[in-house]
Amino acid sequence: MPGGVSSPVRAFKSVGGNPVVFDRVKGAYAWDVDGNKYIDYVGTWGPAIIGHADDTVLEALNKQMQKGTSFGAPCALENELAKMVIDAVPSVEMVRFCNSGTEACMGMIRLVRAYTKRDRVIKFEGCYHGHADAFLVQAGSGVATLGLPDSPGVPKGATAGTLCATYNDLASVEEILKENEVAAIILEPVVGNSGFIAPTKEFLQGLRDLSTKYGCLLVFDEVMTGFRIAYGGAQEYFGVTPDITTMGKVIGGGLPVGAYGGRKDIMEMVAPAGPMYQAGTLSGNPLAMTAGIETLKRLKQPGSYEHLEKVTSRLIDGILEAGKAAGHEVCGGHISGMFGLFFCKGPVTAFHEATASDTKKFGRWHRMMLERGVYLAPSQYEAGFTGLCHTEEDVDYTLKMAKEVFALL
Ligand SMILES: *Cc1c(COP(=O)(O)O)cnc(C)c1O
Repeated sequence: MPGGVSSPVRAFKSVGGNPVVFDRVKGAYAWDVDGNKYIDYVGTWGPAIIGHADDTVLEALNKQMQKGTSFGAPCALENELAKMVIDAVPSVEMVRFCNSGTEACMGMIRLVRAYTKRDRVIKFEGCYHGHADAFLVQAGSGVATLGLPDSPGVPKGATAGTLCATYNDLASVEEILKENEVAAIILEPVVGNSGFIAPTKEFLQGLRDLSTKYGCLLVFDEVMTGFRIAYGGAQEYFGVTPDITTMGKVIGGGLPVGAYGGRKDIMEMVAPAGPMYQAGTLSGNPLAMTAGIETLKRLKQPGSYEHLEKVTSRLIDGILEAGKAAGHEVCGGHISGMFGLFFCKGPVTAFHEATASDTKKFGRWHRMMLERGVYLAPSQYEAGFTGLCHTEEDVDYTLKMAKEVFALL
């Protein structure tokens, strides 16, 4: 396996330079193959929001497995999850399931192009929308219109229609819109893929207004924020409704699921209702649908998001306070069960400011916390996640370790 892993960010080192290999997970905890226990603030990158290996989810999965794991044909569970998503997410009137966030974003970009009959899209520096060719661009503002690819193997043609703007900077968006016919503005409504970066409400509302003014679609990539920032996602939390939404992570409850949805007149472009082709052998399989349904049912119970808010605010406020008290330049923040920390003075409102962070110090912080049984996201450019199973005691322990580590950094 290249780098010994199936996805690049997992290739971080722990004690003695060895990689961490997990054996099992339960609730808020993970155990590695050497038997070390960690408080897990990664939660398989978000899906474990109700806790790992939840008994109710496992029981439902066991029951479903007896009936089969894939039909390659419609199953009633798809209707059940579709209804839950449509009820929850303000912009979604119709939904298509697929197998990952990447797939959801691939379907979404084809759809916005098909619907508007325009090829160009605007994305933001530091926003991640899966590994499809068209999204692997992060070009700085100077080369924004060149749309240069980030990875070898991505042909120039694939990214020529991808224009980059600066997060929380409406002027950078309008500048592009004035010069180009754009199909859609695509963004993470709260950024988690360059570390945690919150939008201003004015920024999101401004993008809504610009989309309407210039006749393009607004897309919220809620693969990370969906059912995490609030049950109805960041669009519910901020009260700004996009035309199209992509989802993944939480709606699969730890199994591979992605989805895209939105206004009915747009979604009716998707085959077989319309001409835009997108398909999947395992899409909407009963096992993945079951994990999603049971996870959303639990999240919907009263108190879920209050718990996430309470635990996460104490955690990140405590970490920032401890860091500052030990004389470090730190900044960060959270919304609901999503948080982040940068080793710089801040505030960080866009990717280019995140790059001011001391990543070497972050690396040492990460390793020393890991050695003390706290598993945080291994990169400065990733957010952290809490779930319903994280307790006040977990936070107490984490803050105690954070104080110890900040004193040694
Ligand atoms: C994780 C993520 C993706 C990609 O999802 P995968 O399931 O890893 O393919 C896309 N967009 C955002 C915002 C994400 O956080």
